[in-house]
Amino acid sequence: MDIQKDRVVSIDYMLKDAQGTMIDRSEGEPLVYLHGNDNIIPGLERHLDGKKAGDKVQCVIAPADAYGEHDKEMVFTVSKKDFAEPDKIEAGMQFQAQEEGGMRVVTVVAVEGDAVTIDANHPLAGKELHFDVTVKDVREALPEELEHGHVHGDDECGCGCGGGECGDGDCDDEGGCGCGGCH
Ligand code: ZN
Repeated sequence: MDIQKDRVVSIDYMLKDAQGTMIDRSEGEPLVYLHGNDNIIPGLERHLDGKKAGDKVQCVIAPADAYGEHDKEMVFTVSKKDFAEPDKIEAGMQFQAQEEGGMRVVTVVAVEGDAVTIDANHPLAGKELHFDVTVKDVREALPEELEHGHVHGDDECGCGCGGGECGDGDCDDEGGCGCGGCH
């Protein structure tokens, strides 16, 4: 069975940046997603289209087809006092911020006196992504999965999607759904 829209795909992958530094990998626990439903970045979907179990794909995805360009407008300064624990704020820390349509990860890039510089771009924005992918499995999606726009695991899901809040395509980012393994 080949990969096409509305099929459930399992992949093992390694993701590196342009310098060859490992960013992320599936580590024996394949990533399972619903193809053609914005579950993964568009550039990678395009490379996987039509592939079958056992196929290997190596590809380089430009930022525009991944997490977007780095937007300078999304780097801004806030006051240390805005944080719950001001004394603990230091460069490199990441926070999850609630916003319309889901969670966003923001990164502290600098702390100078009371001024905290925040970067609200996706941590992978502006990065060229080098993927090394092996297709493990391709299957038809269940009707309920198509309805939700994402994959449900064999075991009890626990994502509490109930068809509503979870089905809007915002469960795809790391940790976005928090359901513990079924997405
Ligand atoms: Zn669901």
